[in-house]
Amino acid sequence: MLNKLRLLTPGPTPLPEEVRLALAKDMIHHRKQDFVRVMERIQPGLQYLFGTAQQVLPLTCSGTGAMHAAVTNLFAPGEKVLVVEGGKFGERWREIAHAHGLVVTSLVQENGVAVSAGDVRAALQADPELRGVLVQASETSTGVLHPVHELAAVTRGINVLLVVDGISAVGISPCPMDAWGIDCLLTGSQKGLMLPPGLALLAMSERAWDKVRSVGSTNFYFNLLAERDKSLNHQTLFTSPVNLLQGLSVSLDLFREQTLEAVYAKQWALTSMARAGAVSLGLELLARTHFTWGLTSIRLPAGIDGGEVLKVAAQRCGVVMAGGQGELKKCVVRLGHMGHVDWADVLAGLHALQVGLHAAGGYCATNTYMEDAVRAYEEALRDGCPEMRDKEQA
Ligand SMILES: *Cc1c(COP(=O)(O)O)cnc(C)c1O
Repeated sequence: MLNKLRLLTPGPTPLPEEVRLALAKDMIHHRKQDFVRVMERIQPGLQYLFGTAQQVLPLTCSGTGAMHAAVTNLFAPGEKVLVVEGGKFGERWREIAHAHGLVVTSLVQENGVAVSAGDVRAALQADPELRGVLVQASETSTGVLHPVHELAAVTRGINVLLVVDGISAVGISPCPMDAWGIDCLLTGSQKGLMLPPGLALLAMSERAWDKVRSVGSTNFYFNLLAERDKSLNHQTLFTSPVNLLQGLSVSLDLFREQTLEAVYAKQWALTSMARAGAVSLGLELLARTHFTWGLTSIRLPAGIDGGEVLKVAAQRCGVVMAGGQGELKKCVVRLGHMGHVDWADVLAGLHALQVGLHAAGGYCATNTYMEDAVRAYEEALRDGCPEMRDKEQA
């Protein structure tokens, strides 16, 4: 193969060398002191990442497992929840809630559009029996960033729990659990955390733990109260994913060395870069205002087959990107730029997209997209990300 393989998908993401070396270590036993030391190191790093003083639980499952654990521990069958359905993963909240026997009200959003806090407030006022709001911080299927901070301002004063799927947000864009008042925040290993798939992480607020106690889930595997007790003793309920946790320990060290602020600033700059490059290629962006910082969803011109674009980009340029999901499958390309990805990867992604487009439809773009993208990156780094600008003004 002439090209380096560049995995620019919204998970799994490339792994830093330090993490790969940690993953390659031989087994240690999950009930012995060496493992306890790994767990002791991990917890403060996780609390920093989540922005919480609560215990962050490692769970042995993909991200969806943590969604399932949250729903089944926080709500009893028959309870009512509000689901923000902004795409594939919002639908997944509804499916999990249905499977658990919850009564679901959905706020269905148009593709590419974020939910408004006003709509959530109105829905909660219309039905005072709703006990939870289930939402994605970042809806990975469309690249939309829901306004979790504003949603928390709605739920924190009332008897409604805010449950946030942060799988493509934690470690990518700000989502400080305690400061914002999120009741349950969860993520998976293979997106922002620069790890292989197979590990999920979940934390809950004090009032969410009270709710878990009152529900008294009968789960055998995802029993979060039992898992929490074990975690406080630096273990997991069943055999731990030892290698993933050793990798996590290193990945969390990287976050602390770099600082979350710097990581968010980089993610914002990569997002600005991808968006400017796509626009300069004459393409339309799916999410116009509230967009995710870890991927960019780009609409393809009518008549161009997205499958062909992705195939050519992979074969000729070594760049693996994702298509759309569901009805967007063939008409959207999702350029992932989360985790261990930098400006040169995004540049490669944009070029591969251009090569793929050309092959798929004889489409001719401007030839300034590379310069435009790099300029946007440098400007975004110089100006800082929105949250930091807000802080400076405050
Ligand atoms: C990737 C993703 C999931 C699914 O995670 P799995 O690890 O595949 O179970 C759920 N929600 C969001 C927002 C995601 O990005």
